[in-house]
Amino acid sequence: MFRIGNGYDVHRLVQGRKLILGGVEIPHPLGLEGHSDADALLHAIADALLGAAGCGDIGKNYPNTDPKWKDASSLVLLQQVGKLCEERGFEIANIDSVIAAEKPKISPFIEAMKQNIASTLAIEPDQINIKATTTEKLGYIGRQEGMAAYAVALIQKTRES
Ligand code: MG
Repeated sequence: MFRIGNGYDVHRLVQGRKLILGGVEIPHPLGLEGHSDADALLHAIADALLGAAGCGDIGKNYPNTDPKWKDASSLVLLQQVGKLCEERGFEIANIDSVIAAEKPKISPFIEAMKQNIASTLAIEPDQINIKATTTEKLGYIGRQEGMAAYAVALIQKTRES
């Protein structure tokens, strides 16, 4: 049995924060604001996996009021989501995603992001696709006030949990 899920996340861009996407630190004068490292791509992917597994969302499973997640690497959160899927008898088929950001250029960092996500979820890099787009200077993304990420995940029940 296959199941599909989607995820969406937005974080505000501010000064004095690192820009971390897909677990990769990207040199940029602005970073994403949030309780954890604010890695919008990993949050969208985690929500897509939770959605596919029928397990709610990140906010429900890992509340941002929990001091445990203060400035935490979202790779740790993604690893827990991967474990939850595994415990429920699911294997990941593939993940596709989009980062929407006006600046900086994301493409040089995509391979490193794929490696991080693959090793965190114990899958192969070719099961993950990451795309990047600008919004042609339109809206909050175009004004560089924030970034968004979208993801879909397909998972397959391979054993009874
Ligand atoms: Mg988030």
